[in-house]
Amino acid sequence: MNSFGLYIHIPFCLSRCSYCDFNSYHVDPVQVEQYVEALALEIGRRACSDAIRRRLVCSVFFGGGTPSILQASHLIGILDQCRAAFTFEADAEVTIEANPGTVDLPKLRALHAGGVTRLSVGVQAVQDRLLQRIGRAHTVREAEQAFRLMREAGFGNVNLDLMFGLPGQGMDDWSETLDWAIDVSPEHLSAYGLTLEEGTPLYKAHRQGAIGLPDEATEAEMYRMAVDRLCDAGFEHYEISNFARPGFRCRHNLVYWQHQEYLGLGAGAHSFLAGQRFFNELLPARYVSAIAERGTAVACGEKLSAEMLRSERLMLGLRLRGGLSVRTFTDLLGIEELAASDRVTRLLDDGFLRLRGGRVQISERGLLVANELIVQLL
Ligand code: SF4
Repeated sequence: MNSFGLYIHIPFCLSRCSYCDFNSYHVDPVQVEQYVEALALEIGRRACSDAIRRRLVCSVFFGGGTPSILQASHLIGILDQCRAAFTFEADAEVTIEANPGTVDLPKLRALHAGGVTRLSVGVQAVQDRLLQRIGRAHTVREAEQAFRLMREAGFGNVNLDLMFGLPGQGMDDWSETLDWAIDVSPEHLSAYGLTLEEGTPLYKAHRQGAIGLPDEATEAEMYRMAVDRLCDAGFEHYEISNFARPGFRCRHNLVYWQHQEYLGLGAGAHSFLAGQRFFNELLPARYVSAIAERGTAVACGEKLSAEMLRSERLMLGLRLRGGLSVRTFTDLLGIEELAASDRVTRLLDDGFLRLRGGRVQISERGLLVANELIVQLL
């Protein structure tokens, strides 16, 4: 039986971070109740569809937004409905994104007892002045406390999200953040560079010259520092921005990177099933009313062409440090052998791509320009 990942979007946050362009809104208790009810209806409806019936859930991921803003009873209720409606693999991973300041010990214990196997925590930085500058709703102390409580509640699989390239962040700040993360010793770490998304308060502040950002060379240095320090500390660098202790790679994100199928539930959630991509109504209120009226909230979808599927698979597969087998790589590019493509041979000769153990991988040099490099290949 084919497996698939289940993504559940919870579009509510305590407040809005200044760099955020995710589909998330200020939390409203009445809307939360309506939203949770709509999710239950969508779960029931989706479970009956032909595209899903004979497949196993390998992973559930509650993303947001801030899923941990919901009561544990809501989250476990949704998870139980999923278990009743879909067939789960025996060792399916169940992750909830949690932000410091939205969890306490009873909630964490309830999540653990309810079958949540993994938590992903937005820490970002360990300097309060930097957290304030990007509008995070928590302090470093709250992040430390949240992590400690997660351990106390029994969670043995925790990811910490970190960010570099923040306004006012220096190499010493980033070094301190990495030291802190290595010291608390999670099973998984994500380290993403800040992207200025158009329309966000941070984007506007930058355009108006109100904030400065580390330059490109500093940002590259920060990335290299993360790779060196985390690998030295025993983490496997298994994806461009992700690091795991052996045995703790994120199953859910591997679904995306390995181009497997996933079903997204909730406002704005995307799905990729049976060669089709579709996504739900973005606004929570529209999502809730669409589910009530039609039983589905799909706003738009498309059947992906063979060409689009090949490009996606190439793009996602190369993000993994293990890369793609030479056979898969050449098939995806539609060439007989590596030497048949000038672009490929040039990237290999220039050291941006490398061949290792019969696989084509992005080299250390290529990591810093991975996105541009993949675009060149397509
Ligand atoms: S917590 Fe995450 S989703 Fe919520 S506003 Fe901040 S960055 Fe956006």
